[in-house]
Amino acid sequence: MAIRISRISAIAFLQIIMSYALARRELRTPKMLEELGLRVEASRLRAIIGDFAFYLNSGRFKVLRLKRGYIEAMVKGFHGEWHVKVDLLSRTFYCSCPHHKFRKALCKHVLLLLELYAFMRNEIRDLELIREFLKVFKDNLL
Ligand SMILES: [Zn+2]
Repeated sequence: MAIRISRISAIAFLQIIMSYALARRELRTPKMLEELGLRVEASRLRAIIGDFAFYLNSGRFKVLRLKRGYIEAMVKGFHGEWHVKVDLLSRTFYCSCPHHKFRKALCKHVLLLLELYAFMRNEIRDLELIREFLKVFKDNLL
């Protein structure tokens, strides 16, 4: 019994360390907006996707397709699971959530996917694609 308890707490301890490491990792997309001189937009974006590490750690992303300039995933939000696509090359995006459907907004799920793309494909040319995308859609942030 004692062994079992310590095993569980070891796992819990590791999870705390991991989430701490992820939480400490700076979000890429708000920083990009800051570098573009868009401080207000950057702080708005930071507030919107502040729980990226939480989404990542609790398995809320299910990546369906990932290639250069394109990411498609299911994102489990708090009010449903949404189908989200971002095409950085043709600069189009889609989300099945109501925010996108009715307002054509760059909703939280699209923003989370941009951050996820930056997280998974950490090359300069990929980050450059995201930067360009954000520049085009900066006024469409929720
Ligand atoms: Zn959405």
